[in-house]
Amino acid sequence: MSLKDWLQRALREGWAVPHFNISNLEQFKAIVAACQKLASPVLIGTSEGEVDFIGLLQARALADAYKKETGLPIFLNADHFHSVERAKAAVDAGYDSVLIDLSKQPYEENVTGTKIVVEYAHKKNVDVEAELGYLVTDSSKIYTESFVIPPESLTKPDEAENFVRESGCDRFSPAVGELHGIAANTPQLDMERIANIRKRLPDSVAMVLHGGSGIPDEQMREAVRLGFNNVHVSTELRVAYTDALRAALKKYPQETAPYKYAADAVLAVQQKIEEKMKLFGSVNRI
Ligand SMILES: [Zn+2]
Repeated sequence: MSLKDWLQRALREGWAVPHFNISNLEQFKAIVAACQKLASPVLIGTSEGEVDFIGLLQARALADAYKKETGLPIFLNADHFHSVERAKAAVDAGYDSVLIDLSKQPYEENVTGTKIVVEYAHKKNVDVEAELGYLVTDSSKIYTESFVIPPESLTKPDEAENFVRESGCDRFSPAVGELHGIAANTPQLDMERIANIRKRLPDSVAMVLHGGSGIPDEQMREAVRLGFNNVHVSTELRVAYTDALRAALKKYPQETAPYKYAADAVLAVQQKIEEKMKLFGSVNRI
């Protein structure tokens, strides 16, 4: 089954394929362990910053190795690539999917750039995600401040329909009240807008929710029920990893073997992933 097949099945059955970010082997290990335990498909993402650290070819090789060993449906996504050139490089490196994120650019430039990536990627059977509307934060971290979501940042259903048709993207990410990272205030997703946008999209196009960290479970369940069939989570995994690693370094001050002190961090990330898989309904789907 291709990534598209999985997403269409998820939409039909009312659940979401999870998307988790990585920049090292430990995070990758944790994701695969959770997929194996709970029989869930997964989309693994690397942002531009994460790729600068781990490498496109290296991420691809890791995914291939884990797929070969486990037989799991593990797909790789270039997450928020902000230029056509970088998106093409991810396609060339053998990624399964790229998110060309030109959402901060004017509508016409967003469509034009996305179309170029779609034409390039589809020749190599690579899926393309695109965004319209923008999120007020870019970083997957904990913010001490609160954020107000400006109405003009939200995606308009009419524009969403036109954008998807004109750009030819396979997955569409709207702005519906979510933000990247975890803010001091609780996000309020605009459920009516979510339902209206989903109605305008063909079933073959997946709808993607970014900023899955910090969204209360009840809102998340409703968002998935209304048609988000792919959800991104990064910050909560980063926090789980970093907190566990800090605690382990403190707990074993004499330990110098990374594979020993990092084991706690792998387990913490795995537990957080399992929680999210259960919440998204992606468990026991293989
Ligand atoms: Zn995102």
